[in-house]
Amino acid sequence: MSHQSEVLVIGAGLAGLSAARSLTDRGHTVIVLEARDRVGGRLEGGVLDGQPIELGGTWIGEGHSRMYDLISTLGLSTFRTWNDDGELLVDLGGRQSRMGARKGAVPKFSPFSLADLFQGLTRFQRLARSVDPRQPWAHRKAAVWDGQTYETWIRRNLRTEAGRAYFRVTAEAIYAADASDLSLLHALFYTASNGDLETLVAVDKGAQQDRVVGGSVRIAETLATGLDVRLGRPVTAVAQDDDGATVTTRTGDSYTAKQVIVAIPPTLAGRIHYVPLLPAWRDQLSQRVPAGTVTKCFASYPTPFWRDDGLNGQAVSDCGPVKITFDVSPPDAGIGILMGFVEGGDGRTWQRLPDDHRRAQVLECFRRYFGAAASDPHDYVEKDWSAEEFTRGCYGAHFAPGVWTSYGSVLREPVDRIHWAGAEYAAEWSGYMEGAVRSGRSTADEVHDAL
Ligand code: FAD
Repeated sequence: MSHQSEVLVIGAGLAGLSAARSLTDRGHTVIVLEARDRVGGRLEGGVLDGQPIELGGTWIGEGHSRMYDLISTLGLSTFRTWNDDGELLVDLGGRQSRMGARKGAVPKFSPFSLADLFQGLTRFQRLARSVDPRQPWAHRKAAVWDGQTYETWIRRNLRTEAGRAYFRVTAEAIYAADASDLSLLHALFYTASNGDLETLVAVDKGAQQDRVVGGSVRIAETLATGLDVRLGRPVTAVAQDDDGATVTTRTGDSYTAKQVIVAIPPTLAGRIHYVPLLPAWRDQLSQRVPAGTVTKCFASYPTPFWRDDGLNGQAVSDCGPVKITFDVSPPDAGIGILMGFVEGGDGRTWQRLPDDHRRAQVLECFRRYFGAAASDPHDYVEKDWSAEEFTRGCYGAHFAPGVWTSYGSVLREPVDRIHWAGAEYAAEWSGYMEGAVRSGRSTADEVHDAL
């Protein structure tokens, strides 16, 4: 069966929906083709012990202005992440300590390690501030920085194991990848794109400040209301010629339009068949931007018992598999929910274990951080994003050495009638919901002009 519209949007994540909304509001006819049987993509709701949980993207925070506006326009509301009524548990180098939860607080390291960490942070922030996130490849030192991994920089610039451990754990938490997976220039770009390193890791005045009542997927669901979204339509091919574009789905339908927005992660965009073939540079680019590895693990308890012990449910450790945790209990704290991330290299081996081994390892981490009560949850659930056919890894793409300097300048460039959108294409707040919305809207502007 054949369908027609002015614009076809592939993917009903935040970027695709934002683009579709923006174009529809300007009077264009738009069809959104979504592979899954739901909207939201990397935003997904789940239930644990009868409470809504966020299996994917969760928090919004400092600088996410489009998200706060959108949430309010859609009639949704936010609540604060549980944070500074307790301390953060630091488990580095085999020693545990606690630290305050305010932005900029530092772990209780030895004076030598602390001095090392400070100089490392100062140096890294200075480099990040000098990078223009709209064109990181244009920096006069771009070739040098893109010619080494972030791990290389950490080894050269931090002298102590504690200082190195801090940088490595934050890299895993931010990219769901190891510092050795990404180029230094990518780490600098991403930091500049998202404010600074402190904003990326902080809760209050940071990227993890607020949650959406009912779960972040409500944003996508509400945004999709009134749009022509066709679910269960994985796009397999996009053909274009002088007359227009034809998009084919796995279900055998075909759709024609004047312009197409591919609003899916770049590595998935590379799996679509294009006629004529995309230019070689575009295909090579999509081969070089892998997604990170992350599983979210949730355990529920009758109460958030760690709060009674003066802890806020956040832990940071250099001993996995869970190295980062959060308290994601419902706002009324009717029950307690701990969530731990298994990320990067740890995730690649851990995800191959049998179910009971994985669960046992996760709960052992929770016990180490929060005590014996954490060993015996009422309920437990995991979500492995690399196992998702229409995502294949999270939180987003990271760029290995050489990618920004080889392909950065053409990352957002349309190929005739085909335009690109998604969190990975955003110059500001790259990788976050905020970036996805901004990218979707700016690609909609581009398509509006093309029409
Ligand atoms: P996606 O959400 O990936 O949307 C792409 C859509 O395209 C999907 O619906 C997919 O099903 C569909 N699709 C794929 N292939 C095809 C095809 N061939 N045909 C048709 N449709 C297709 N961000 C934050 O701001 N805060 C957070 O706390 C946060 N935490 C995160 C935690 C996790 C575990 C994950 C996974 C992500 C997190 N993120 C967070 C990132 C955030 O969720 C994403 O940046 C954002 O949702 C991406 O939106 P998008 O529209 O660019 O892509």
